[in-house]
Amino acid sequence: MPDTTHDLVIIGAGPGGYVAAIRAAQLGMDVACVDEHSQLGGTCLRVGCIPSKALLESSHLYEQTAHELGVHGIKVKDVSLDLKAMLDRKDKVVSTLSGGIAGLFKKSKIKHYQGTGSINADKAVVVTDSKGKSQTVKAKNILIATGSRPASIPGVDLSLDKVDTSTDALSYDKPPKHLAVIGAGYIGLEIGSIWRRLGSKVTVLEYLDRVLPGMDAQLARHAHRTFEKQGINYELKSRVTGVKSGKQGVTIEREGADPVKADRVLVAVGRAPHTEGLGVEEMGIERDSRGFITVDENFQTNIHNIYAIGDVIPTMMLAHVAEEEGIACVEKIATGYGHVNYDVIPAVVFTHPEIASVGRSESGLKDEAHEYKSGLFNFKGNGRAHAIEQADGFVKIVSDKKTDRVLGVHIIGPDAGSLIAECASAMQYGATAEDIYRTCHAHPTLSEAVKEAAMAVDGRAIHA
Ligand code: FAD
Ligand code: AMP
Repeated sequence: MPDTTHDLVIIGAGPGGYVAAIRAAQLGMDVACVDEHSQLGGTCLRVGCIPSKALLESSHLYEQTAHELGVHGIKVKDVSLDLKAMLDRKDKVVSTLSGGIAGLFKKSKIKHYQGTGSINADKAVVVTDSKGKSQTVKAKNILIATGSRPASIPGVDLSLDKVDTSTDALSYDKPPKHLAVIGAGYIGLEIGSIWRRLGSKVTVLEYLDRVLPGMDAQLARHAHRTFEKQGINYELKSRVTGVKSGKQGVTIEREGADPVKADRVLVAVGRAPHTEGLGVEEMGIERDSRGFITVDENFQTNIHNIYAIGDVIPTMMLAHVAEEEGIACVEKIATGYGHVNYDVIPAVVFTHPEIASVGRSESGLKDEAHEYKSGLFNFKGNGRAHAIEQADGFVKIVSDKKTDRVLGVHIIGPDAGSLIAECASAMQYGATAEDIYRTCHAHPTLSEAVKEAAMAVDGRAIHA
């Protein structure tokens, strides 16, 4: 086979890698993408964002049909769960979307090499397939987009039976009787919600005294109360020190408290950068103390023409951040320009109700003594929220005290994940709270709650 030197070889076909590949092809580059899996899409599509949202939707419909339709005057009898069909649907969603990426690659003439990629001393990528056969792929530029894998904590061995990662917990063949979840971050809460709805008792063990670390404290308190009402048990200030697995289930040891027994345990304590076997040590590619690859403002590592983006670098571990970084990185390579606005990154927790944030938290501003104004509007003042029987929750907007420029928006309530997009756009354009409320919002929509929260910043909400 003749030796081709690609303009860009990307290692990893997750949302960072595959989106970067398509953008680079649009910019006229000859692009190849290496991924060890036949299914393109990375963690996000195979075992992350998409399968979790598919199961969140199915489990929500199941719970709603079984318990919540009576209020609408709809009577249903004998609702039962076909978990296999539910999991099959989830897998079909994944394979459809993954096939879609393969189609986009074909359209953009992006070559997919299937195998594990590692960078050699000649700055070429050696691709080794599952049978151990290797080929060398030459590149003018290399982009590392190898993402992340589930992390653990000392004393917890992820290889033990019944000690599970999020990947395992997206494919249980029956709901565990009692599922313990270590970590009250968004992955633990989303997957915990799925299995609670499908019949499991769920206990969340969290080291901190709150859920959803990093999110606005008032939002997290409301979320905690809501999930508790839904039936999730919380053991906060509970530091897990070890897990034993036996025939009967698992025993989770905690510092200064009784152990917790459960049938299975989901370890959701965060994710670690995926750099094993990539040749980073041999190449002397710099990493920080937690193992993330460090990059400059061009996403370039300390080695010329080797770049990194997404979960493998120390920025927010979210699919849309990986996408933004992938696009900015290849635009910089091709044109010299490219930008990610890290001040305006929305984050969404897809529980019911949804939780969404963008920008600065009120608690963070308080800690920094930044002078701000705050407006909060409860969904119980919103007509549409009542019409859809989801009037719990609120929208909170914080803006700068002097300029009124929006600094952050925090939402818990129906469709929060979509509502936050308007807020992110407003912030991207440097809008003030007044700009938001002077924009006409259609009635009756949930977006009126965003407008009313903006009005509340100036003490002039109508329906509060
Ligand atoms: P990844 O998606 O991890 O892709 C990296 C790819 O590279 C993988 O296919 C991997 O197999 C491959 N690879 C690694 N090393 C090599 C190698 N040496 N050679 C070849 N291939 C290699 N984010 C959101 O924004 N919204 C969500 O709702 C959301 N939900 C999530 C739910 C769960 C359960 C999980 C686990 C994560 C979720 N995330 C979510 C996070 C999101 O999945 C990640 O932020 C995102 O996938 C990171 O993208 P990436 O392109 O950096 O890497
Ligand atoms: P995230 O990083 O958002 O995925 O969340 C991980 C959560 O796990 C955080 O809330 C951590 O406080 C929590 N966590 C980390 N280590 C432990 C531990 N040993 N015991 C209980 N919770 C932990």
